[in-house]
Amino acid sequence: MVSIHRDNRPQRLRAHLERLCAGLADRHTGGTGNIASNAHFAEVASRAGLHVERIGFDCFEWEPGPAYLETDSGTLTVKRGPYSLPCKAEATLFAATTVEELESLHAEGCVLLLHGPIASAQLTPRGYPFYAVDEHTQILSAIEAAGPAAIIAITGRDEMAGAIYPFPLINDATVDVPSAYVKDIEGTALLAHVGETVRFTMDAKRIPARAEQVIARKPGTGAGRILVSAHIDTARETPGALDNGTGVACLLGLMEELASRPTRHTIEVLPFNGEDNYAAKGELVYLAENPDGFSNVAVVVNIDAAGLAGAATDVSFYGCPDAVNEAAEAAMATLASVQVGPAWPASDHMVFAMQGVPAMAIASAELTRIVGEIAHTEFDTPDLADSALMSDIVEFILGLIEELDACA
Ligand SMILES: [Zn+2]
Repeated sequence: MVSIHRDNRPQRLRAHLERLCAGLADRHTGGTGNIASNAHFAEVASRAGLHVERIGFDCFEWEPGPAYLETDSGTLTVKRGPYSLPCKAEATLFAATTVEELESLHAEGCVLLLHGPIASAQLTPRGYPFYAVDEHTQILSAIEAAGPAAIIAITGRDEMAGAIYPFPLINDATVDVPSAYVKDIEGTALLAHVGETVRFTMDAKRIPARAEQVIARKPGTGAGRILVSAHIDTARETPGALDNGTGVACLLGLMEELASRPTRHTIEVLPFNGEDNYAAKGELVYLAENPDGFSNVAVVVNIDAAGLAGAATDVSFYGCPDAVNEAAEAAMATLASVQVGPAWPASDHMVFAMQGVPAMAIASAELTRIVGEIAHTEFDTPDLADSALMSDIVEFILGLIEELDACA
């Protein structure tokens, strides 16, 4: 048996991260990189002696082709909205900046430019299980009621969509109006063509596919559970190193070391497969596996956007009892890179915090920089991560488990 020693932990974590981010495929739910990463996770978990459950679910794969808009001043290549259906239309170009304006147009069959307030934020997917934004639901309904041949959104930046510029207005396989998007500076020139006949062509295919949610479990010697999670999926077209290869690498490293440590709590190690997906199916599958709820869960520890070189690691708390806070503070006391940080009301810890399950988030102290400049882009590469920081995260979680095991 390979000896798993904490001394070579940074190297092991680095190797895990490199492997997760290697190759051309990102890890979006249901894609080839996602399928391979989940299989690898299951393999590492069983090799480490954990019980592994693999639960399949339906999702959509999506194959985009070229997309362009032809006006009398030329051809503009546009970006394809993720999961969009295809379109081939020769129609009048319309534009709207608000729902009211959209409702006053007879936009059926037209190519519809959306800009200004109506396109200022990524629309929360309809049927997203964890929250809804009324304004976004209204916009989606107004777009569908208008019945355009396609929409082209003129967008800039939106933190909810990560650091990508421009951002897709719609990222949702439940919307059947074909959608594309362009950068604000290019899109504004299109407004000069409103009222003219344009041609819009977009190739795309939605393909029913399967993905899985892996659950790795180390049974405890006593009662109670501790859940440790990090989402294994990524946005499309990003290596997803900080979002969230580092988190998953920490889970893999943690499992390797858990093998030799008996624990009182049952430890569940969860690579959630849907944090960056419109349907969050992996999270839903896991919740469905827990019909009796989480009353025996001491804490959920979620890692996301952690390990950026040059920055400390922040731990934040959501409805944790004093005993959990104290255990965390004891576990971080000897770790210079781990500190208490501000709350971050996003990512998978909120799935539990919203239900009143005590939760903890582990993220970089430079979270704003990661979300605003790195996440969801091609620049989110493993060289940005520091394996010594990742090693301290694993050390922190092992220490936290030990502290919680020791509480009565
Ligand atoms: Zn993330």
